Amino acid sequence: MRANPHICKLLPYQPGLPINLVARNYGIEPKNIIKLASNENPFGMSPKAKTALLTSLDDAHRYPEQYNLLQALSQKLRVAPEQIVLGNGSNDVLDFVARTFLHTGDQAILSQYSFAIFNIATQSTGAKSLIVPAKNYSHDLPAMLRAITPQTRIVWIASPNNPTGTFAKYADVKQFLQSAPPEVIVVLDEAYFEYLPANQRADATTWLEQHPNLIITRTFSKIYGLAGLRIGYGITSPQVANLLNRVRQPFNANNLAIAAAVAALNDDDFVAKSFIANQVGRQQLIDGLQKNKLSCLPAYGNFVTFEAKNATGLNAKLLQQGIIVRPLANYDMPNHLRVSVGTTEENTKFLQSLKNAI
Ligand SMILES: *Cc1c(COP(=O)(O)O)cnc(C)c1O
Repeated sequence: MRANPHICKLLPYQPGLPINLVARNYGIEPKNIIKLASNENPFGMSPKAKTALLTSLDDAHRYPEQYNLLQALSQKLRVAPEQIVLGNGSNDVLDFVARTFLHTGDQAILSQYSFAIFNIATQSTGAKSLIVPAKNYSHDLPAMLRAITPQTRIVWIASPNNPTGTFAKYADVKQFLQSAPPEVIVVLDEAYFEYLPANQRADATTWLEQHPNLIITRTFSKIYGLAGLRIGYGITSPQVANLLNRVRQPFNANNLAIAAAVAALNDDDFVAKSFIANQVGRQQLIDGLQKNKLSCLPAYGNFVTFEAKNATGLNAKLLQQGIIVRPLANYDMPNHLRVSVGTTEENTKFLQSLKNAI
């Protein structure tokens, strides 16, 4: 077999351990396992989304139609439907961006400790990733700007970033966009946008008119609780959306996900409840970690990343107690663990298990 050399060099994405796998390996009942490894919404999905999902089963034999979700997003975001690109999860959109703008010999810029898919999407096209050292585990935007060369086609930015949880101020991202060459695509991955307090948010979609090279990505996997349905989207200029839609498989977003997403988008109460619970739960985790003398990175999403000397050993002891968190050795952060914000009860159990482990 002669696979493409750049594919052979790729390291596969490592997801959080599934509950059933841990149940089998550790002999624990699945119902006694707490998974805080993939930044999922601990409350599940909105009841309205669930109702819409069940109703949509009657359409599961039909090929999907995107119209309803494009309309709902267009209204909510105040952008034209032609500016929205739906993905089978927002990772799908990241992949379209790479396939549309990169080929062998090109370069994409990303930050050290930023989202793993940026590098995977880049390398899978044969292009090279230029990794700019992080500053205090955050994107160093001025350094990323200086790193741009004539070979640079894309700059990938995640804010809040995963796995660190750090956040790049909107004023700084805007400054970056204003200084970057207009032919370079700037991706702003906002998977955790809905978890930002109103006073720290800016509406980057209003920058698109001036900056048609900007692509914002968002997802229904996090606050909306639809991770398993796989639905996300990109918002960009009509020109760029038109290009991305050429590589998009026509039926990438399915009927069930589209129906659930429309309902989820309009359930403001569920989002508000999830937001508040996340604020409280995140503080609970930070306080508990600090009590155990573990220092946390600034946390702007629905997870907390903390430093632990023997992270591998600590992770193993947590698994034995049925607690799944995320080790970050594959992100070159071998002394950190990432824990998602769960329900109050889940957070309490995690902190208790952590205390036992230490
Ligand atoms: C979770 C996450 C996503 C969402 O991916 P989906 O494919 O929409 O599930 C995207 N970007 C970052 C940085 C994330 O952490």
